[in-house]
Amino acid sequence: MQFSDAAQQIVSAGRWLDARGWAPATSGCHKGRLEASDVMTIDYDGRPIDPRRPSAETPLHCVMYRLAPTLGAVVHTHSVLGTIWGLGPDRASTVDLEGYELLKAFPGIATHETRVAVPIFDNTQDMAVLAHSVAERWQRGSCPGYLIRGHGLYTWGTTMEEALRSVETFEFLLSCELEKRRLRP
Ligand SMILES: [Zn+2]
Repeated sequence: MQFSDAAQQIVSAGRWLDARGWAPATSGCHKGRLEASDVMTIDYDGRPIDPRRPSAETPLHCVMYRLAPTLGAVVHTHSVLGTIWGLGPDRASTVDLEGYELLKAFPGIATHETRVAVPIFDNTQDMAVLAHSVAERWQRGSCPGYLIRGHGLYTWGTTMEEALRSVETFEFLLSCELEKRRLRP
């Protein structure tokens, strides 16, 4: 893929996420108002190819591309659901999504009769530590994404379209899970 096409996809993804309120008030460039010229190039270790400074969370993107070389896009959001999940009193280390038809929107899942254990990592400003936890968890089995407690969602796809579908699926399923817990006696 040409850099200009990839940059345009990132610009469009930023607008799409912003329109849904899933990337508010981030430090750095506003995700709804990105221009192709705001997109920079880095290597697989997160070192910038141009003179600008990449995002502090760059290691969390790079680790996924190293763990799963078929990935074409890693997307991070700061939605309300992605942020609050895991802040409950149980401090859960996963959210188990089970029995939902829409689990089939995740790659490689063909039935609702399955359970996806989505990891929840504790937030830290030390991205090397977090990237290490993600890699360690991945060695024990792949997952369609993960949450960082009080922070947000990371998910991915072989294309940007697939990654954004995954963002949408997570938002829907976490909404379902929240409603389900409210319905419990
Ligand atoms: Zn973040």
